[in-house]
Amino acid sequence: MQRGSKIALDYKSVAVRSRAPTRARWLACGLLIPLVGALIVHSFFGTQPTSSTHTLPSAASDLPEFPPAPVVTPEPLEEEPLGETVELVVRRNDTLDRIFRQHKLSLTDLATIRNLPGVRESLDRLRPGDKITLVHNEGAVQELKRRISETEVLHVTRGESGFDTAVLTTPVQVREAFAHGTIESSLFVSARAAGVSPEIILKLANDIFGWDIDFALDVRTGDRFTVVYEQKFRDGEYIGDGRVLAAEFTNNGVTHRAIYFESEDKQIADYFAPDGRSMRRQFLRAPLDFTRISSHFNPRRRHPILNTIRAHKGVDYAAPTGTVIKAAGDGRVAFVGTKGGYGRVVILEHGGGISTLYAHMSRFAPGLKAGMRVKQGATIGYVGSSGAATGPHLHYEYRVNGVHKNPRTVPLPKAEPISEPYRAAFEARARELFASLDRARDAAVAAVPAEQASHSSSSADPEV
Ligand SMILES: [Zn+2]
Repeated sequence: MQRGSKIALDYKSVAVRSRAPTRARWLACGLLIPLVGALIVHSFFGTQPTSSTHTLPSAASDLPEFPPAPVVTPEPLEEEPLGETVELVVRRNDTLDRIFRQHKLSLTDLATIRNLPGVRESLDRLRPGDKITLVHNEGAVQELKRRISETEVLHVTRGESGFDTAVLTTPVQVREAFAHGTIESSLFVSARAAGVSPEIILKLANDIFGWDIDFALDVRTGDRFTVVYEQKFRDGEYIGDGRVLAAEFTNNGVTHRAIYFESEDKQIADYFAPDGRSMRRQFLRAPLDFTRISSHFNPRRRHPILNTIRAHKGVDYAAPTGTVIKAAGDGRVAFVGTKGGYGRVVILEHGGGISTLYAHMSRFAPGLKAGMRVKQGATIGYVGSSGAATGPHLHYEYRVNGVHKNPRTVPLPKAEPISEPYRAAFEARARELFASLDRARDAAVAAVPAEQASHSSSSADPEV
């Protein structure tokens, strides 16, 4: 990982959120943020931490372990080797049967192990890249280990009378890390090399500042960000990033700041501005991760099928069939079913006279019924082209007292600020986290001149 390397980020045009593999996620980031200029990321803490310290000078030691689960120490293996150890890496379309055959392992043992209580579910769901560690003696299984969650390992051992199973807990340690960047050019692709993970950038854009900054249109040269976030380690090995704890983004000279606050009773777990205002609005601006807007709100649109002037009373978001559609805000399901040109449609009522409508779905979320309550962000259905649709897209409407408003521009009501009972705890946490953020930024800014000088000869032309 290079410090202070100049990186150029690719820019397309539209915000998307993605859970695709890393490469695709970076592409998504490229789509997300129109970086006009090169992004200089002074990455002190990257996705591939080495042995050098990746924690803030003074704030890391008091972090809790995540999750705060009791530690079960794995039983030490016997001194005498039980047999040959093999590490099996699952490939595409692999099944346990196939893997066992390939390695000439006992299929009888496999059948016995799979029939142990609770084991089948943890063993049969294989994904490419999963690892299974096996000790065998001429094909007879002596021991099998498989990670079943971030903190748990399934452990099967051959005992006196058949196989024994146990689930070992492997604690995850969380450390605080930070990154600071100045946007000079576009091109996200090399940001990865400088160490800011796509997850972190997407969190900034989607979960924290997305309501205040239009990341598809407003990000520009000279914008800066600083982020303090969690990095997760298991047995000293980096396994991924956790939550963003504090962040600031300076957009066109205006600085937005936020911290993550979780109350002791877990009633609150969200991002707030320094004064306790929520960073969230009561509604999502767009209720899905879309690839582009295929038709804007337009009271005088010529209808593509009917070829007459007919108002377009919503926004059409093009997205692949099957893309998740989320409830734009907390509310109650008023309608779920089929309605003429809308095809499969869901209508939500949110109180305050506001309702939202989601049309052309390929299918509804399983179990969704009229009268149910839904939370903002909950999956209500999937993009399709049912009804009068020329291709897969979501037609989305936002109504206030029955009157259609433009969902892209309608002022969205703010979510609740920190309430009085939580005020003191919030302020204490805010002081702590904003101090971390200040330290992170100041350290990064102080380090800039030397690093820029040392890289000036090698910095590549921005790939715009
Ligand atoms: Zn439409």
